[in-house]
Amino acid sequence: MSGIYLIDVTNRDGVQTAHLGLSKLEKTMINMYLNEMGVFQSEFGFPTTRHEQYYLQANLELAETGVLKPIRLGGWIRAVVDDVEKAFKLVPGLQHVNLSISTSDQMIQGKFQGAKSRDDVVSMMVDALEAARSHGTQSIGVNAEDASRTDTDFLITFASAVKEHGAQRFRYCDTLGYDNPFTIYQSTRTVAENVGIPIELHCHGDLGMAVANSIAGAKGAIDGGQDAYINTTINGIGERAGNADLVATVLAVTKSKGFAEKYQLAKPVDLKKAWKISRFASYAFEVPVPINQPGVGANAFAHESGIHADGVLKDPHNYELYSFDEVGRGEPELVETGREICSGEYSGISGFKHVMGKIEVSFENATQAEEVLELARYANVEAQKPLIEDELLFIAKYPKIVRKLLTLIPPEPTHS
Ligand SMILES: [Zn+2]
Repeated sequence: MSGIYLIDVTNRDGVQTAHLGLSKLEKTMINMYLNEMGVFQSEFGFPTTRHEQYYLQANLELAETGVLKPIRLGGWIRAVVDDVEKAFKLVPGLQHVNLSISTSDQMIQGKFQGAKSRDDVVSMMVDALEAARSHGTQSIGVNAEDASRTDTDFLITFASAVKEHGAQRFRYCDTLGYDNPFTIYQSTRTVAENVGIPIELHCHGDLGMAVANSIAGAKGAIDGGQDAYINTTINGIGERAGNADLVATVLAVTKSKGFAEKYQLAKPVDLKKAWKISRFASYAFEVPVPINQPGVGANAFAHESGIHADGVLKDPHNYELYSFDEVGRGEPELVETGREICSGEYSGISGFKHVMGKIEVSFENATQAEEVLELARYANVEAQKPLIEDELLFIAKYPKIVRKLLTLIPPEPTHS
């Protein structure tokens, strides 16, 4: 029986969202939290983007040394041979990639303006795929951008070609959130049955159905005999109305009526980490979690009306599908109500030692403390808000890695 894997794309789709961004340290923390949670893969960034290169390299080092393990780190690349070559030049250790090209007539016409045909799209992808394979990659996913508006026969032709050339997965992108659970089920099942390739579901929420479409698409893939890989983002942050929310997707797969009996996560996910990862993403993106967010919203376990309160007090199952501790809630949280000393880009050693002492980090000597403080200052330049405990602990534990991921060197000008 095939299963469902999660590929979180917060560090790619989430950060490319208008008005939002993350520091390189925040992106790294997200990879760490996703790994702790048991997510299969993190789409960790853009290997052709120069300012990502040291962050991506540093995270691959964390993977090699077993810190970021077993999670896979995948880069997103346009299906252009030059881009693939540039990616492997900037980030040589890249093992997992997704290559992307538009497949709908709307986008082939609208973006390439008549310069490319469907056949050109297939051959561009195949060339990019061969280029990526020549670098010894472990896995390659191939993205059909705007798959939901692509003619199904062409999707089959495209997916068959990439399978023949060694792609491991086919990403069905409902780029505009146009599908509904009924249509995406048909499409993914048809591709799975006709091509025989594992299918990724990449769904957006423009019509409010990102999670529903993701699990319907996964069901289509599995009923068609293939594994399904659902793309998620933390708190659903992503282009426009966002992507399938990570926590809501796990809840939908594991708790929804009749689903979990037949369709299961291929790899267990620790839902108890939901609260922490959601809170961190909210802090890092500076986007509050909606009060009615599944599992992690302030109202997710709040009851006021007489009938509901009475019912839930008698037996929580009367009005709750799952318990708050299953999503990692219920622990008291300390909120500073008096004096606060926090880390910043202009912090000094005395305040810094105080902050680190509070989280029980001590230094061997003054030099070491100064070094870690300097890194924390640089991390603050990017974050522009106080670092959280886990970030400070991470800096103290992996100073060399942090130095690398914070490195930003703009290229030399090519003309004077
Ligand atoms: Zn997207």
